[in-house]
Amino acid sequence: MRVKFPAAPGAALRCVLFACALHAAVPTPASHFGHQIGVDRELLDWDKVVSYFQALEKSSDKIRVEELGKTIEGRPFIAATIAAPEMLRDLDRYREIQRRLADPRITTEAEAENLIARGKTVVLLTCSIHSTEVASTHTAVEFAYRLLTEDKPRFRAILQNTILLLVPSLNPDGVDIVTRWYRRTLGTPFEGTSPPELYQRYVGHDNNRDWYMFTQPETRLTVAKLHNAWHPQIVYDVHQQGQYASRIFVPPWLDPIEPNVDAILAQEMNMIGTSMAAELTAAGKKGVAIHAAYDFWSPARHYQAFHGGLRILTESASARLATPVTIRREQLDRNALGYDAQQKSWNHLEPWDGGEWHLHDIIDYQLIAFESCLYQAAIHREELLRNFCRVGRRAIARTEPAAFLIPAMQRDPGAARKLFETLEFGGVEIGRAADGSHVISMAQPYSSFAKALLERQNYPDMRQYPGGPPVQPYDVTAHTLPLLMGVDVEALEKPWAGAVERDHFPGGAHPESFSALDTDAWRTINRVWKSGGAVWRDPASGDFAASQKSPAWKQLRRPRIGLYKSFIPSIDEGWTRWLLEQFEFEYSSAGNQDVQSGDLRQRFDVLVFPDQPVQEIVNGYSKGAMPPEFIGGLGEAGAASLRDFASRGGTLVFLNRASAYAMQALGVKAKNVLDGVSNRDFYAPGSLLNITLESGPLTLGLPREIAIWSEHSPAWEAGEGAVARYPDAQVLASGWLLGEKLLAGRAALVDARLGAGHVILFGMRPQYRGQSYQAFKLFFNALVE
Ligand SMILES: [Zn+2]
Repeated sequence: MRVKFPAAPGAALRCVLFACALHAAVPTPASHFGHQIGVDRELLDWDKVVSYFQALEKSSDKIRVEELGKTIEGRPFIAATIAAPEMLRDLDRYREIQRRLADPRITTEAEAENLIARGKTVVLLTCSIHSTEVASTHTAVEFAYRLLTEDKPRFRAILQNTILLLVPSLNPDGVDIVTRWYRRTLGTPFEGTSPPELYQRYVGHDNNRDWYMFTQPETRLTVAKLHNAWHPQIVYDVHQQGQYASRIFVPPWLDPIEPNVDAILAQEMNMIGTSMAAELTAAGKKGVAIHAAYDFWSPARHYQAFHGGLRILTESASARLATPVTIRREQLDRNALGYDAQQKSWNHLEPWDGGEWHLHDIIDYQLIAFESCLYQAAIHREELLRNFCRVGRRAIARTEPAAFLIPAMQRDPGAARKLFETLEFGGVEIGRAADGSHVISMAQPYSSFAKALLERQNYPDMRQYPGGPPVQPYDVTAHTLPLLMGVDVEALEKPWAGAVERDHFPGGAHPESFSALDTDAWRTINRVWKSGGAVWRDPASGDFAASQKSPAWKQLRRPRIGLYKSFIPSIDEGWTRWLLEQFEFEYSSAGNQDVQSGDLRQRFDVLVFPDQPVQEIVNGYSKGAMPPEFIGGLGEAGAASLRDFASRGGTLVFLNRASAYAMQALGVKAKNVLDGVSNRDFYAPGSLLNITLESGPLTLGLPREIAIWSEHSPAWEAGEGAVARYPDAQVLASGWLLGEKLLAGRAALVDARLGAGHVILFGMRPQYRGQSYQAFKLFFNALVE
C-alpha cells in the first residue's frame, strides 16, 4: 500500500502539502527501476540497487547508506541504516550502548539497566547471499521504500525502537551474474535456469559456509563492519528453498542445536519465529512451516548465535528466478524433513493449495516476514536487550573448560598463527603467557565461539526411527579447527595461573618460512619461483632451501598446474582456485576442450580434478538442459587424452568423488569399499576422521597421524600405493560416523601408477572450505611429486 494524500482544502491542505514536500522526493521503486518490484521476468542490476538506496538517502532523514568496501569483483558492498531521524543523528551513542551491553566485564548490572532503558534493538537483515534466491533483494528495496514513506503505528514502533542494518545483498557480484544470465536466456528454453558458473567467484553457494573461517571479502566486511561493530541482537538472513517445499519456513529450528548456543537465544528464536509464522497466517498466507528441514548445528552458516545474538532464517519457495511456475498441490514435497507439504500438521497448519507461484508471491510473504521480525524486535526491545546481557554474563561464567592452552611449540607455526587471526577476527581475546604459550580464557563474552571451534564435536546419533537410517544433517557435523589446521590445543580444567598479556594477530603478511612443517613455506616457494630462483628439497626431512644443502637434496620443479573446470559449476573447483591463489601457485583452468585437444603433456605437469560426481565430469550437462555451448563432458576423447598424459609421465590428482573417474574412465585399479553401501551402514556427513600416514614424498612435512575431512569420501582396499590408512578403531575424530568398521585399515590416499605417470587419489577434501591446513600439505606435495 502506498501513502495517499487526500485532496482537502484549507488548513488541512497546508499540512498535506508539507507532508508531500517531505515525501514527494522519495522516489518510488517503479520510477527508479522502470517497473514495479516483483513483476514477472524482471530482475535487478546491482548498480541500480545501489543508486536506489543512495536516492533514498538523499530524500529521507530516516536512512543512511554506507559502502562498507568492495566485493571480490570490485562492486560496492553496501548497508543501509534505518531508524528514526533523531536516532540516526546519534548512532555513535547507540553503538557505544551496544558495546557496553555486549561485555559484562565492563558493565555492572545496575549500569546495564540504565543502558537497556536507553538502548534500541539492533537488527541486521541480510539478503540474497545465494544469488539464485533472487527475491529478497527486491524485498529489501520495496520494504525500505515503505518503511520510509508509510506512516503507520507499526512502522513508527519499528523506527523508534530498532536500528535496522539492511544489507540488500550479501553477494552483489552474484546479483549481476544471475541477472545477466537470466536476460541472456529469457524467451529461450533455458529461461529460469541457474547460470553455468559459480555466483561468487571462488565459493558459490558455500559463501554461506564461511561464517567462522572468514575467507571471502564479503564475509569479512559483514563481520568486521556490522556484526562486530554493532553486536546485533537479531540477525535475519533471507533465503529461498525449492519450489515444491513449504511456501515459507520460519524457526523454530530442528535438532540438533549446537551445544554452545545459549538456550536463551534458542528460546528467543522460537518465540520470534512462531510470532512471524502467526502473522503470516493471520495475513492469509498459506504453506507456513516451522520446526522443519533446518537444524542449528554448524557455525559455518551463522555467526551471531555465538556472539550473543539470535538468528532468524526464512526460506521461501522459489519460482524459476523471475519466471512463474504452476504447481499442483499433489506435486508438493511429501518427504521434507519434519513435515509433509501436502498435509496439515501442528508445524504446517495450512498447506498451500497449489497454483501459480510468482516472484511477487515470494516478495509478499517476505514483506510480512520483514515487518513482523522488526515489530517483534521493537515490542520486545527491553527483554531482548536484557537477555543479550544475560547471555554475555553466562558466557563469562563458563568454567568447563576454564581455558584453552595453545603451547608455544607448534609443528606448523603458520597454521597456529592463522588460527589465532581467525579467532581474533571473531572477537576472541587471546592472552600470551611468559613462556610464549597462548591462553584463551573462557571468561570472555564470546567464549562460545572459541569453544565451539576448539573442541571436538559429538554429533548426536539421530535416526529416522530406532535402528533406521540416519537423519541427514542440514550441513556438516564437525568444525574443530585444531584438527583441521594441525595445531596442538589443550583444554584446561582450571584457569591459567600465570600472568598473561593480551596478544594481537593482525592478518596479512606472515614471516617467510622454508620449513616443510610450515604450510606457509609453500607461499615462500612460489615467490622464489616467481622471482626466478630455484628451490631445493631434502627428500628425507622434506625441508626446503634456496640452494642445494647436500648432494641428497633434489631440485623441486615448478609444476605447470592445470585445474579441470566443468561447465557444471563445482564449488570445490572454486575452493581449489582460492587455495592455489592464497599460496601463490600459478595454474590455468582446463575445460573439456582443453583436455580433449590432446598434447596435454606439452602444457602441464599435473592436472587436478576437484570434487565432483563422476557423471558430471564424463557427461556434463545433458542435451536440452543448457544452451548447446555448455553441453557435454570429457567423454571418450578426454579420457584418451588423459591416459596419454599419464603415459608420458604426467600426474593426475583426483579429489574425493572425482576419484571414481580414474577407475571408470582410466582403468586405474582401486576398489572403493563404500561403493553401493547404504547410509544405514556407513555415514560420514562432513566429519573429521583419523588416518595414519606412510612416509614418502606425499606426506613430507606431516606428522604420522592426522585428521582429514570426510564427506562423500571413498575408501579403498589398501594395496600397493596406499599412502594413508584408516586405523582399526577410533576412526572418528570429530562429528558423526556410522560404520567405522568398514573403514578399518582401508586407504584414504593412494598413489597409483599409470604408464610413466602417477594418479593420486584423495579420499578426502584436502582443501575443505579453506580450513584444512594440515591436509593442504598433502595436496601441495601431490602437485610437485
Ligand atoms: Zn540459500
